[in-house]
Amino acid sequence: MTQKIARFLAEQRPETPCLIVDLDVVAENFKALKRSLPIAEIYYAIKANPAPEIVSMLAGMGSNFDTASLTEIDQCLDCGADPARLSFGNTIKKQRDIEAAFARGVRLFAFDSRAELDKLAQAAPGSKVFCRILVDNSGADWPLSRKFGCEIEMARDLLIQARDLGLDPYGVSFHVGSQQTDLAQWDVAVGRAAMLFTALNEAGIELKMVNLGGGFPARYRTDVDEIDAYADAVMKAMTHHFGNRLPAMIIEPGRSLVGDSGIIQTEVVLISKKSYAEDEARWVYLDIGKFGGLAETMDEAIKYRIRTPHDGCETGPVVLAGPTCDSADILYEKAGYQLPLDLKVGDKIELLSTGAYTTTYSSIGFNGFAPLKAYFI
Ligand SMILES: *Cc1c(COP(=O)(O)O)cnc(C)c1O
Repeated sequence: MTQKIARFLAEQRPETPCLIVDLDVVAENFKALKRSLPIAEIYYAIKANPAPEIVSMLAGMGSNFDTASLTEIDQCLDCGADPARLSFGNTIKKQRDIEAAFARGVRLFAFDSRAELDKLAQAAPGSKVFCRILVDNSGADWPLSRKFGCEIEMARDLLIQARDLGLDPYGVSFHVGSQQTDLAQWDVAVGRAAMLFTALNEAGIELKMVNLGGGFPARYRTDVDEIDAYADAVMKAMTHHFGNRLPAMIIEPGRSLVGDSGIIQTEVVLISKKSYAEDEARWVYLDIGKFGGLAETMDEAIKYRIRTPHDGCETGPVVLAGPTCDSADILYEKAGYQLPLDLKVGDKIELLSTGAYTTTYSSIGFNGFAPLKAYFI
C-alpha cells in the first residue's frame, strides 16, 4: 500500500468496502511500460478500470485506448481522448454501434468472422481492420481464449475479403490471456501472427500491424516477473519472427497499468465455525464478496494478497466469503489462505492490487449491498 493511500485511509476513514486508487502508481506504470517497450503504441484496455480520473490522466499522457462498446468509446471521448486514438477492439459489435463509432471518428476495428466483416464494410467503410486469431491461453490465470479469434487459414481469407470489401486490412491481433505468467506464450503467438503476414504477402496484401493484446500481470499472491522481463519477451518474439522488418506494434494493457494502483479496504463482519471440530477452518465473512466487485475470484482464479492489523501473529486456515445470501459468494476455499488467529469481527483488512476488474464487476445492489465505492487520489 502506498503512503498516499495509507494517509487517506487514516485521515478520511471511508466507509467500507471501498477501493482507493493511487493515480501516481497508474502514471508510473504507464511510463515504465513506455520506457521498456518504446516502439509499441499503448492502447489502455479501459474495461480494467474506466474511471474518468484514470482515462483523462492517461489521455493527457498520450495513451491510446482499447474499447469494447459505444459507452466505453464515449467515456474516452468525454475524457478528452482523440477518436483517432481509439480502437473498437471487441469482435462482437452491433452494426449500429459500429456506425455510431465511425460517426464519432473511430477508424480502427477488430473482427474475427465474416459476419462481423460485413457489418464493418457497411458501417465503417475504408477503416483499418485487424483480425484476431486464436491462440492458446495456457499459463494465464484469467484466460480469454476460445470465445475470440479464428484459425489462421480463416484469418487469411477474411483479410483478403476485407480488402475486397473496401476495408483496409491493417493487421492481426491476439490475447495470450490475462495475468499471463508464462513469458514463452508471446513467442508462440507472435509466430502465428508472422505466419499470417507471410500468407497474406503471397496474396498481395502487406499487413502493417501486430496487436499483442494484454496479459501483463499485476502482483497477486504468486510473484511475477517485472514488466521489463515481459517487454523483453515481447521484443525477442518480434525480432525472432519478423527479423529487422518489424511491423507497427500495439499493446493493450489493462491489468498491469491499474491493478497494483488500488487497494480495497473491507471489514470483517463475522468469524464462525460450522462444528466443534478442532481442525476445522474458520469462516471469515467480509463486507465485500463476488457480487461486490471480486468477480475474478471465480474458480479462485485471481488470488489477492491480504493485509490485516495482526500480520506477523500466528495464523490458521480460513475460508473467505462475502456477505450476500448466495452460496456462490465464497471467495477462497481451496486456495489455502491463512489469516491471523487474533483476527476479530470489526477488523479492517486490505485486499491489495485490486485496482483492475473490480468496480465495474460489482453488482448494482444485490441483497441491498451498494456498488463498490471508489476514490481516486
Ligand atoms: C481485456 C482485454 C485486454 C486487457 O487485458 P489485460 O490482461 O487486463 O491486460 C486487452 N485487449 C483485449 C482485446 C481485451 O479484451
